[in-house]
Formats: sequence, C-alpha cells, structure tokens
Amino acid sequence: DRTRTPFIAGNWKMHKTIAEAEAFVAGLLPRVADADGVEVSLCVPFTALQAVVDSTRGSRVEVYAQNMHEAPEGAFTGEVSAAMLTELDVHGALLGHSERRQFFGENDRALQQKVPAALAAGLKPMLCVGETEEEREAGDTERKLRHQVQEGLEKVPLERLAEVTIAYEPIWAIGTGRVATPDQAQEAIAFVRALVAGFDKEASEQVRVLYGGSVKADNAAELLALPDVDGALVGGASLDPASFAAIVDAAR
Ligand code: PEP
Repeated sequence: DRTRTPFIAGNWKMHKTIAEAEAFVAGLLPRVADADGVEVSLCVPFTALQAVVDSTRGSRVEVYAQNMHEAPEGAFTGEVSAAMLTELDVHGALLGHSERRQFFGENDRALQQKVPAALAAGLKPMLCVGETEEEREAGDTERKLRHQVQEGLEKVPLERLAEVTIAYEPIWAIGTGRVATPDQAQEAIAFVRALVAGFDKEASEQVRVLYGGSVKADNAAELLALPDVDGALVGGASLDPASFAAIVDAAR
C-alpha cells in the first residue's frame, strides 16, 4: 500500500568509528540524492551519532540511536536518555532489537516504557519484534508477536500510534543469510498490522511495518513489493554505501 511512505533503515550494530561513519556518509549521500519518496535512516552507535547527524544534515537521511533508556535520568550506568539524544538532533531510536533482548536482557516490560518515552521526547521509535526458530517450529510465532506488539504499544497514546514504526525480524533470519520467504514475511507482517488494529484501526493502516533479516540488494525488491511490507531494516548490507543504496533504490 503506497499510501505509506517506504522506509529503509540501516542498523550498523557495533560497527564504524567516527572516521568510518563519515566515509560511509560521503559514499551514501550522492547515491540516495534522487530517492524521492523513500525515507532513509541509519541506526548508529552512540559514539558516531554527532558526526553522522552533522554530515547528513539537509539530506534525506535521518539518524537513529540503537537503544535508549526509558528513564529521563538516573543511576543507570552505561545507558543513554532520550534528552541526551534529542540534544544531538537525533531523529529516532531503535528499540528492542533482538540482540538487545538476547544479549542484554532487554524485555517487553522495559519496552512498554521506552516506546512512549521516545515519543514524548520527540524521538521516532522503531520497535523490533520477531520469533526464534524454535518458536516458529513450535507454532508459537503469532503468540510471540502478539505478546511483543501488545506489550510494546500498550502505553502509547492512541493518537500517536501511527508514529511508531515496527520492524518484524524473525531471529533465525538475522545475520544468517536465511531470508524469510515472501509468504512468511507477508503473513507475519499482516498479523502485526492486525495487532495494531486491535488498538486502533486507522493507525494500523498508517503504521509502517518493516521486514528485517538478511535483506540484501538482490532480494529486497521482492520483499518490498509485498502488500503489507513498508520497508526494510537492514543489518549487514547497510555497512557498505553501494549495497545499502541499492536497497534504497529497490524501494522506489
Ligand atoms: C538487523 O540487524 O536488524 C538485521 C536484520 O541484520 P541482517 O540484515 O544482517 O540480517
């Protein structure tokens, strides 16, 4: 449904120093200058946020942090608040990436606070959800998604629901080269949209739901053509400007 603006987001994970980030931006900007009608963002390590904000200013590229603490400030060593991000003119925050959940104990309870806290601070939240391979094989995919989406959106004011982006990322497809089939992606993402409709029907038609998991230049077009897939969250293939720009191109 092209009433929703296609959205391609890159997640650098723990890659790129400031110098590497600046070299990437210099390579990317000329390649996406003509990508009218596509929203593009980069999820950048904290240390390179300022440099990427500065070097993308005035371009179509928006800058997201990869995490954000839900509290305004406090005794949370190693964490970063929404105000610390907005002070840098960061546009949004990736929330609940499966690596945060798997390796750093992030849970749906914290995300229930993080999503509305980001919105309240003026940051665009991108909430990540997705099942493990074990859960898919056990027939638990919908139960897992229901839990994650309902918890994550529970405290979002209904009139702001459409501002949340949701990234459906089956964990077995992240960094594995095992991309979901078009049927699997469409089915899960339509289900996620139906869950949003459980909160508000109109918002569910406006909310962007992205697919993530081994998206590359050569499989992006097929996924992006699916009716409920509004874009892609790209890990590995976002590290190189030419391959990331090719995915942006596929969304046009
Ligand atoms: C991700 O990090 O969100 C991701 C989807 O990674 P990859 O594209 O490398 O599978």
